[in-house]
Amino acid sequence: MFSCAVCEEFSMYNLCSDCRVIRHITTLNGKKRVLEVLENIFQRSEDKQDNKIQIELKNEIENRKCNLKK
Ligand SMILES: [Zn+2]
Repeated sequence: MFSCAVCEEFSMYNLCSDCRVIRHITTLNGKKRVLEVLENIFQRSEDKQDNKIQIELKNEIENRKCNLKK
């Protein structure tokens, strides 16, 4: 057994299954973008989080549209 390098829970691998998903998302979107979204959403009071989530979802949809056009 290992301790997951990110969350430190016990795992069969050096990254647990949840943190592997997080790493995959980071690989697809870039570390800076993932960090930006996490900071924008989680470093706010709960009432402001809903607004920010809506804005981030809108940004993601726009980014996908732009990528499809390329
Ligand atoms: Zn983990």
